[in-house]
Amino acid sequence: MGLISQKLPGMEAQLAASSRDPFAADTRHIAIVGAGYAGTMLAWHLHQLASAREMRVSLIDPGAGISLGLAYSTDDPSHLLNVPASRMSALVDAPRDFIDWCQARRILEREKDGFVPRRVFREYVLERFAGQLSAPAPGATVGVINDSVSAIRQAAAMSFAISLHSGIELQADAVVLATGNQPPLVPEAFRALSDTQPERVSAALHQGWADRIEQDDRVILAGTGLTMVDAALTLQSRGHRGELIAISRRGLLPVAHRKDWRGVRPTQVPLEPARGCLSMLQTLRNAVREGERWDALLAGMRREISALWTTMPPAEKQRFLRHLRTIWDVHRHRMAPASASAIRTMQESGTLKIIAGTFSDASALAGDRISVSYRARGTDEMRSVEGQRLVLCTGPDTSLVASPLLAQMQREGLLCADPNDLGVKAMPSGKLLNARGESDLHLYAIGSLLRGTLWECTAIPDLRGYVSSMAKTLLT
Ligand SMILES: Cc1cc2nc3c(=O)[nH]c(=O)nc-3n(C[C@H](O)[C@H](O)[C@H](O)COP(=O)(O)OP(=O)(O)OC[C@H]3O[C@@H](n4cnc5c(N)ncnc54)[C@H](O)[C@@H]3O)c2cc1C
Repeated sequence: MGLISQKLPGMEAQLAASSRDPFAADTRHIAIVGAGYAGTMLAWHLHQLASAREMRVSLIDPGAGISLGLAYSTDDPSHLLNVPASRMSALVDAPRDFIDWCQARRILEREKDGFVPRRVFREYVLERFAGQLSAPAPGATVGVINDSVSAIRQAAAMSFAISLHSGIELQADAVVLATGNQPPLVPEAFRALSDTQPERVSAALHQGWADRIEQDDRVILAGTGLTMVDAALTLQSRGHRGELIAISRRGLLPVAHRKDWRGVRPTQVPLEPARGCLSMLQTLRNAVREGERWDALLAGMRREISALWTTMPPAEKQRFLRHLRTIWDVHRHRMAPASASAIRTMQESGTLKIIAGTFSDASALAGDRISVSYRARGTDEMRSVEGQRLVLCTGPDTSLVASPLLAQMQREGLLCADPNDLGVKAMPSGKLLNARGESDLHLYAIGSLLRGTLWECTAIPDLRGYVSSMAKTLLT
């Protein structure tokens, strides 16, 4: 079982397979669970900020070395960033860092519109990480442990006992949950089919999902967001010939970044949060009717949304999720222009069909066929589509039950679920609230687990600031 992983330059991986701890008793141990962008760059900042005090950081993730999580572990060149390279610096204090890195390698000459493949971003972050770890940092040790964390419990004197899947136990003084995007659980409507015929149902966020699909299969894609876009482009790049049918409640594709995305200026309209979400939605719609653009309006609102979200009561957040979320998601989390044009071509050629409807169930038919039934949007009419395979493209899961670790911590009262199932309850600093509503332990979360508290905290332009402040919090 992989205990200590690869040796990136300058990285010390010093844990022994036994329970003997090679570090001095007064060395502070910070455990980071998850080596996606958030966990990896948090370790980067801690190493950079380390000063007099002896500190050990363990970055724990089951991937090989540092895979950089679901978003960037893909090697598929058709999986592009959905944020232009100029906004993807990993470092809050060096906004041009990624674009300069790309330019030095002439990458942007090949990818003219600035939306480079996501694997390029992974290479960049890993290079920056290795570079930082090879710099002198007296007293700081960073180790990568390739294993998954199966349980975290409170141990003596405010410390934590961390159980790894391999059976190893670690002690830590502070823990940061950077567990990010979990592949989705199978929705209720598809559970019977998935239980009885698992080979016919796969999730597009799982590695290797496309290997099971034959080129002439008619594939039903559940969801029409960015995950569906990735899935359709993956199948296309593999020479898929069968029809793709994508279904979601509203049948809306993510809007494409405009060719003139550089010219989008955030527009602010006077929103009155005290009057509630429906009033804000009305104000935004009126502004669109008067000629404003959704992308500019939401970019304007994004600057304030986290502050606004932090003070919104749960019922109001629920209203936001019901009435504004789809508009927010399709306009804020856009497709790269090249992805949009490939999707449009697939629609025009009839290879990809989009349907608006709510799934009801799925069943196996004779031979290798399946049938998925849905209620067509705006009607009471039940319809069905047939195909060979069902692919879940419902996006990452934010409920705690999707992660055995988080479910265990919830059961034992160390953390509790956000009332709208958007991760965990936490302070704006990321410090977790336990089942009694207290936050007296050095237990933190970062990234999508904080959506219930901060809302926009998952994309790199938001996340890099949170990562940098969390490192400072951990060192005070
Ligand atoms: C498909 C996709 C594409 C995206 N594209 C972009 C983009 O182009 N630009 C952008 O700004 N944002 C993008 N995002 C948003 C994305 O969420 C962030 O950019 C970023 O990847 C989030 O990083 P993270 O570290 O919080 O989570 P993740 O990248 O999900 O990393 C979490 C890590 O935690 C590990 N983990 C989970 N549970 C355990 C456990 N029990 N023990 C040990 N390790 C564990 C996982 O293995 C994983 O490696 C995309 C998201 C997705 C899903």
